[in-house]
Amino acid sequence: MTWEPIEDIAAKVNKGELNAVDLVDTSLNAIRQKEEFKAIIAIIPERARERARHIDEKVASGERAGRLAGVPFIAKDNFLVFGAETTAASNMLKGFNAPYQATVIERLEAEGAICVAKANLDAYAHGGSTENSDFFTTRNPHDKTRVPGGSSGGSAASVALGLTPFALGTDTGGSTRQPAGFVGCVGYKPTYGLMSRSGIVAMASSTDTVGVLASTVQDTALVVDVIAGKDDLDSTTIARQQEGYLPGAASVAGKKIGVIKEYMGEGVSDGVRKQIEASIERLQKAGAIITEVSLPSLSLALAVYYILCPAEISSNLSRYDGQRYGYSYEDAKDLSESYTKSRAIGFGNEAKRRIMIGTYVLSSGYYDAYYKRAQIVRTKLIQEAVSAFEAVDFLVGPVAPTTAFKIGERADDPLAMYLADTMTVAANLIGIPSVSIPCGMSNGLPVGMQIMAPQRADRELLTVAAAVEEAVQ
Ligand code: GLN
Repeated sequence: MTWEPIEDIAAKVNKGELNAVDLVDTSLNAIRQKEEFKAIIAIIPERARERARHIDEKVASGERAGRLAGVPFIAKDNFLVFGAETTAASNMLKGFNAPYQATVIERLEAEGAICVAKANLDAYAHGGSTENSDFFTTRNPHDKTRVPGGSSGGSAASVALGLTPFALGTDTGGSTRQPAGFVGCVGYKPTYGLMSRSGIVAMASSTDTVGVLASTVQDTALVVDVIAGKDDLDSTTIARQQEGYLPGAASVAGKKIGVIKEYMGEGVSDGVRKQIEASIERLQKAGAIITEVSLPSLSLALAVYYILCPAEISSNLSRYDGQRYGYSYEDAKDLSESYTKSRAIGFGNEAKRRIMIGTYVLSSGYYDAYYKRAQIVRTKLIQEAVSAFEAVDFLVGPVAPTTAFKIGERADDPLAMYLADTMTVAANLIGIPSVSIPCGMSNGLPVGMQIMAPQRADRELLTVAAAVEEAVQ
């Protein structure tokens, strides 16, 4: 099903023309009807209906119910949300009930939005296809034999299937943008620190960000505007831009757009290249000034990411020791066995792989060769991006080298799987905002165009994204 623009839904709820309870039921029905796509881990019917009733009562008594009044949404299952377990799609966290909610969930609720379900993901957000979920694989809405991308594959599929008008994901190395590209919706990754990470299961803390998925840039921007900004519970958060995040007058005319040379070379499928080139041509016709830009260190970004990210994962996942929360092996004869058995049984293969790689690159003797060198290259990459943005306003390219691949095709080959992240990890390493916009189809599958902007230029990025959206469709 398709939803009206979020702003219109909320306006109608506030006027009493639409019922929040009906909206929740519509969404829960859609979830039931589209069960075969396996986008959802758990639904939250009681709490959602109760919140909806509360909103309808508020409106009936003449109060306003917020900018997102009655708007149902789905959160990736690594957000702490009341009313259902938070598992991060891992066996380790099965049965875990959040003692508090993520800050961004609180902010959405304060404006009247209602979380109706938790979406599937690669366990702990480690992956690009949802095949690493400890529970099941989500199917691509365009072709059930293919992956929806990941790790926010359940959230992206939810939006593409019309289960809710928007969904939350996370983006540590591309997990919001890449699945958005694979299912054909908008996927937004903000500047690092623009949205609080409090109450989100930590993956790699120096690149973890919230992600927003919706059908249009306008809807995405409204959600960004509601959740962005400083939070006392996350000391890395930064101040909002004064004008907020709703797109300004959108036009690409006169905008300097750099096409990333390294993203248009070898390894990009013909179908993806064709759509991206056609879109760039349209942008040029709409008045954008197009140049080619090279960031030589981009070719090393994937290697850098797959050193730094596992290093941070090995540290963040050390908290799952079977003592405080999560799975605990019951027959341990001592504490040491309790640690080892709980982790050996509780973690899936990909989490273990990353813990081992991370521990290795941080170990004395190898630290200088891997971790330290990767940090040096990361800094170089940041410097190259800063100088690129002296010449252009935005950088563009594909979001992934191919369209959605077949389920199982890369499951036994971690390196092939990691290659799907080649074009997304750089924005995370640099800390800049980046968005994926649908830009046509190739053999019946969506292609996503990626746009990046300098740090803290989220409003400018959303504004140009709205213009690009118009120009390329
Ligand atoms: N696919 C990437 C990885 O597996 C990105 C994950 C993410 O952004 N959460 O690390």
